[in-house]
Amino acid sequence: MRPEILFDLFAPVTNLPGIGPRNAKLIESLAGPKTIDLLWLLPRDIVDRRYAPTLDTAIPGRIATLSVRVEFHSVPSTRRQPYRITCTDNTGEMTLIFFHARPDYLQKLLPEGETRVVSGRVEEYRGQIQMTHPDHVVVPEEADDIKKVEPIYPLTADLAQKTLSRAIDTALKQLPELPEWLDAAYGKQMGWSSWRESLETAHRPVGLSSLSPQTAERMRLAYDELLANQLALAVMRAKQKRASGRVTKGNGDLKRKVYESLPFKLTDSQLAALKEIDADMAVPAAMLRLLQGDVGSGKTLVALFAMLNAVECGGQAVMMAPTEILARQHFETLSRVLETSGIRVAVLTGRDKGKARQAILEDIESGAVSIVVGTHALFQADVAFKSLMFAVIDEQHRFGVHQRLALAEKGRGIDVLVMTATPIPRTLTLTVYGDMDVSRLTEKPAGRKPVDTRTLPQERLQDVIDGVIRALDKGAKAYWVCPLVEESESLDLAAAEARYGELHARFGDIVALVHGRMKAAEKDAAISRFVEGSARILVATTVIEVGVDVPDATIMVIEHAERFGLAQLHQLRGRIGRGEKPSNCLLLYSQPLTETARARLNIMRETEDGFRIAEEDLRLRGAGEMLGTKQSGLPEFRLADLAVHGDLLAAARDDAKLILTRDPELKSDRGKALRSLLYLFERDAAIVNLRSG
Ligand code: ADP
Ligand code: MG
Repeated sequence: MRPEILFDLFAPVTNLPGIGPRNAKLIESLAGPKTIDLLWLLPRDIVDRRYAPTLDTAIPGRIATLSVRVEFHSVPSTRRQPYRITCTDNTGEMTLIFFHARPDYLQKLLPEGETRVVSGRVEEYRGQIQMTHPDHVVVPEEADDIKKVEPIYPLTADLAQKTLSRAIDTALKQLPELPEWLDAAYGKQMGWSSWRESLETAHRPVGLSSLSPQTAERMRLAYDELLANQLALAVMRAKQKRASGRVTKGNGDLKRKVYESLPFKLTDSQLAALKEIDADMAVPAAMLRLLQGDVGSGKTLVALFAMLNAVECGGQAVMMAPTEILARQHFETLSRVLETSGIRVAVLTGRDKGKARQAILEDIESGAVSIVVGTHALFQADVAFKSLMFAVIDEQHRFGVHQRLALAEKGRGIDVLVMTATPIPRTLTLTVYGDMDVSRLTEKPAGRKPVDTRTLPQERLQDVIDGVIRALDKGAKAYWVCPLVEESESLDLAAAEARYGELHARFGDIVALVHGRMKAAEKDAAISRFVEGSARILVATTVIEVGVDVPDATIMVIEHAERFGLAQLHQLRGRIGRGEKPSNCLLLYSQPLTETARARLNIMRETEDGFRIAEEDLRLRGAGEMLGTKQSGLPEFRLADLAVHGDLLAAARDDAKLILTRDPELKSDRGKALRSLLYLFERDAAIVNLRSG
């Protein structure tokens, strides 16, 4: 149950003055339905009203707050003309201008002969000073009601700044004093004040410097949010560690057999990762480990050997892939490698229906198949395993936390290995998993050549086509990725289809096309033709981004590379440089390049190090955008900005760890305060998972 002290904060915004159902809707889309959502919305800008000149010195163009005497009203003769009110001070004259005004309202607001304080932008018109629709008009006694520095909030078009401001002010007045959850020494060292004071200060900027994410108050609020995130994850992790896992320690027979059938040796990195995984599986606690490795570093094989460990113990293993294409491809890879081992592998995706699907389900339930590869289709309720022990989740960031949990329900104490080819920087993995164990593949399989990456203006397209054709004559295969048109899948498609049409007209059937709108079977067909070689140029949208593995493809052309994010470019380039032959990546760009686009292309030219690229990407784009916003499965922070507050995240992680070591049930005074923190940031789910309620 949420503590009573938080009730007001979690009340609907309609409780606030001026917020009816219509405004509530707007606020909801902007921030959320609750008062606390509104409070997390921090000012993005300010209006400085401190400039208070006399009329003779008022500088046109500036926002000014002026004390004036209302002289007389000039009521317009037609509705089209503005209503004018002449005002003076001892030094000069100014006209207030109102369009479509109600005379009775203005007469009440600005009665002739009285003094009023008005604030707004001073304008000059035909040598006269005027102000159109002042933002504020008050009696002198209430002059202080005009904020010297007014916060400006992010807005939806129809919501008035004033309405929002007033609602936030009221909410601030009701702010409860919450028990302090920060470690006192840490808070002091950082120079932070209480939560309540920090929130108030953050909403009352005193100048532009107040908007910096690095003010004491904004840092504190960011830390609170990160601490809630890290503490909740740490609680879940502790619970998982307590949960009855099992000891999985195979005799190594299968692994040896499969290993001997491989045409190559595992890299030292792969062996080291396997050793770490085996050690995790050998202890009774459930494993949760992240396997990070740059594209092409050989994660799939590591996962396979880990799965074999479970199979040796009589269990089953699943491998989850984010897309149909990938699932099929993993299935084929695994089937090939396991051909002589006698182990049965099945694949289950959304495409399997009716009787065929039923047969697969039966095999899974009876234990006839030991390894199942699939997509989201594996989450469905009727998919039951005989004895699921191990799960590999490929390209995790496309799956949400809920889906990970749904999978965990399909067995008992399942060991989970998450693989990601997107080299998520440490900062981001922390926010998703907390302090998760990580294995990294730091080397590429032997014999790989670096990819030669060049950037060229789009005008050189013809040269590029000629160059690619020359390479194809020598037996090469090329990916040709077409521009990503923002937020428009159909435009995306049109561009790819147009390029395909053109190349196909010139070079015939060696050109194939694959894109997201094609039926699964069509996609497979196109990719298979590329794999076996009857097609040697594969024109594609970004569907080939993740995981497609055609080792003898050595050319990657990316049109309008300036429109892609760094992570995406890196993923795409990772499709080549997988074999023994040297590879070339050609990034075509259109002028003019933005600062950021230029930086991205330079980084691509400079390095193939996925981790460096990911860090740069985070720096250039900010965390939210980094992996593609919505589907990323990353928590969205309201107050913390990982590009700025990365250090706070590490501190929050350490803090969370220490808290749970000292007070695993959050029963101390600080522990109780921390419970409010979890509620405040809606991480209450963690609370029920504390050791005892
Ligand atoms: P990732 O999933 O990390 O992108 P994959 O596991 O798909 O990489 O491996 C990429 C390619 O490298 C595959 O064709 C795979 O068979 C091959 N490969 C994996 N490990 C090795 C190795 N140790 N030596 C040579 N080739 C390898
Ligand atoms: Mg892979």
